Amino acid sequence: MAESIGAQERLDKIVRIIAANMVAEVCSVYVLRSDGVLELYATEGLKATSVHRATLTVGRGLVGLIAAEARPLNLPDAQSHPAFAYLPETGEEIYHSFLGVPILRAGRTLGVLVVQNRSFRSYAEEEVEALQTTAMVLAEMFAAGEIEDLTAPGADLDLNRPVHLKGASFWDGIALGHVVLHEPRIVVTQLIGEDSEHELKRLDAAMASLRLSVDDLLARSASVGTGEHREILEAYRMFAQDRGWTRRLQEAIEAGLTAEAAVEKVQNDTRARMLRQTDPFLRDRLHDFDDLANRLLRELMGRPHGPVAGELPEDAVIVARNMGAAELLDYDHRRIRGLVLEEAGPTSHVAIVARALGIATVGQAQDAVALAEAGDPIIVDGETGEVHLRPPTDIETAYIDKVRFRARRQEQYRLLRDEPAVTRDGVSVALHVNAGLMMDLPHLPESGAVGIGLFRTELQFMISSAFPRQSEQQAFYAQVLDAAGDKPVTFRSLDVGGDKVLPYLRSQAEENPAMGWRAIRLGLDRPALLRTQVRALLRAAAGRELRLMFPMVTEVSEFQRAKAIVQREIAHLTRHGHDGATRIRLGVMVEVPSLLFQLDELFGAVDFVSVGSNDLMQFMMASDRGNTRLAGRFDTLCPAFLRALKLVVEKGSAANAPVSLCGEMAGRPIEAMALIALGYRSLSMASSSVGPIKAMVRATELGPLRERLLSLLDEGLSAPDIRGELRGWAAANGIPV
Ligand code: PEP
Ligand code: MG
Repeated sequence: MAESIGAQERLDKIVRIIAANMVAEVCSVYVLRSDGVLELYATEGLKATSVHRATLTVGRGLVGLIAAEARPLNLPDAQSHPAFAYLPETGEEIYHSFLGVPILRAGRTLGVLVVQNRSFRSYAEEEVEALQTTAMVLAEMFAAGEIEDLTAPGADLDLNRPVHLKGASFWDGIALGHVVLHEPRIVVTQLIGEDSEHELKRLDAAMASLRLSVDDLLARSASVGTGEHREILEAYRMFAQDRGWTRRLQEAIEAGLTAEAAVEKVQNDTRARMLRQTDPFLRDRLHDFDDLANRLLRELMGRPHGPVAGELPEDAVIVARNMGAAELLDYDHRRIRGLVLEEAGPTSHVAIVARALGIATVGQAQDAVALAEAGDPIIVDGETGEVHLRPPTDIETAYIDKVRFRARRQEQYRLLRDEPAVTRDGVSVALHVNAGLMMDLPHLPESGAVGIGLFRTELQFMISSAFPRQSEQQAFYAQVLDAAGDKPVTFRSLDVGGDKVLPYLRSQAEENPAMGWRAIRLGLDRPALLRTQVRALLRAAAGRELRLMFPMVTEVSEFQRAKAIVQREIAHLTRHGHDGATRIRLGVMVEVPSLLFQLDELFGAVDFVSVGSNDLMQFMMASDRGNTRLAGRFDTLCPAFLRALKLVVEKGSAANAPVSLCGEMAGRPIEAMALIALGYRSLSMASSSVGPIKAMVRATELGPLRERLLSLLDEGLSAPDIRGELRGWAAANGIPV
């Protein structure tokens, strides 16, 4: 392999050596092309003229069958096999026995390696193993790009095939960049073991520490409750204890591999087998198995688990199975253009942070990790949820155009920055941004928003490894207020629990965490927690206004209890001679439907209200906001939901209390159009939505729109599709949505 000769010569030499070593008359290498054709790249024994001429499609002939099923075929009499297809150009009619193995990398088939004999020979198990090991070497050679020059003009290797994945849009930017694998694939270079006793011992030791580390992960996860995370760890444990796995690893070592190569070989076999499974449960488990095998490789090679710090390209697109918000923040975010995740929901922490960072993000992109190679060109279209791996030039050109178009549009939004958000008939709408991290703060002046309408304080807690102390919280909130200057900031008290897990906060397993012990419920039951936060906020706001609202309030009395905690803290600070805030405004998030039936009492008690449409929708429709199966099933613009939103804003204005809305719908032009028509005069959204929403507001004549929407709502269930109607309205009136 190390000899410096051309690729063809190297392949020719490899097949010659294999044939000689296996006492086979034929040894051939077939390579899978991007058009699904297997092409003969080198042979010892078949007619030399058939090299680069003889071809088979995947699924056709024995070679095609091996490629399709990704498993070896060992036949004493190949010609009697029903799949046998005779290729006259090769002159293979005189050979009877046949052994072929797939050339696999990360479970993908890159080609097929075959030996043949004239006699009716049965190849021994060790020979199958040896051929598979050689196939691993070939796979690395292919992946390193060594055989690219041998492909005919116009043809391409399957390895370099453009791949198009359809996932879900998590954040709507567009990124052109290069793949960085969050968990880089480990390349095993030392394949052949010198001393199998020694290798078996190494495997034993690595297995033992792997099992310990999985037990440890499980023990630690016991404190953060149940759910998917724990299920995955349970699956790890199951695999780690699996005798069959250990036995296959030992056999591979006994056949002459190093422990690392054995792990890789067994992982390849298992992957290939499991990829053929259609059962989604089993396919899911494949990821767990992959993770575990990678952990074992890292144990063997003495490398820590987790992302390897290295030079990031300037245009990095991180591809990961899943990751935590903190892991994303470990990267230098100035170099990250895009993020592709196989898992995670659109409201997961990592998705929220990616959005805050303005990173184009696509989730639920199946098999992205296995299909991508580090350094591959990639396009992430967060608008449509598409990912293009190794895109052909026409796709790339189209995207370069799209990026230019978006940049022009951004430029137009920038020009609007200092313009007021006023409708054509003179109604002004206050546009705020949602924030939660330090890096959100520069967006406030850049976006032209009038304030921060929702500051999610839990994000700071989520990215910390331990509970932030009062002094840390205080310093952080003071920085936020400093950055906002004279623009108002509405803080929200800790909204943890549910899907927002703090690794250091012990909680109990819950069947329905979203409806469980979370947010204000937790705050009232653990007053020390809420008190600390309130104290930090009050001290940070010394000499200025403090606006604070409470999440997940279900009964007005909960607000009163929270307010009492705030009052006690004010008294405490005054007693100790601290300066207080000049003015305190306390509010409530309307996101649990029960509040809709307590609006009179609510508006009698609070200074302001902000509608959390994400949760209100999920609870009104009994439809988990993170469940992708339900995504898009119910429309936020359906009469039932719009009537609820209308009720809140009308009661608010009757009580003269400010009402705002800070869920995701506020940042979507069509939805925001409906909101202003219903009477909302304050919206809070991701900073990048401010421009598009302002453009929509400024182009809208509100009076007639409101009339139209209200009459549609009156028609109730017989009303036509409201979303479609509003789209039509926008198109007819030149409103950019
Ligand atoms: C909401 O529920 O609409 C909201 C804004 O809060 P969060 O998304 O943080 O739950
Ligand atoms: Mg909420």
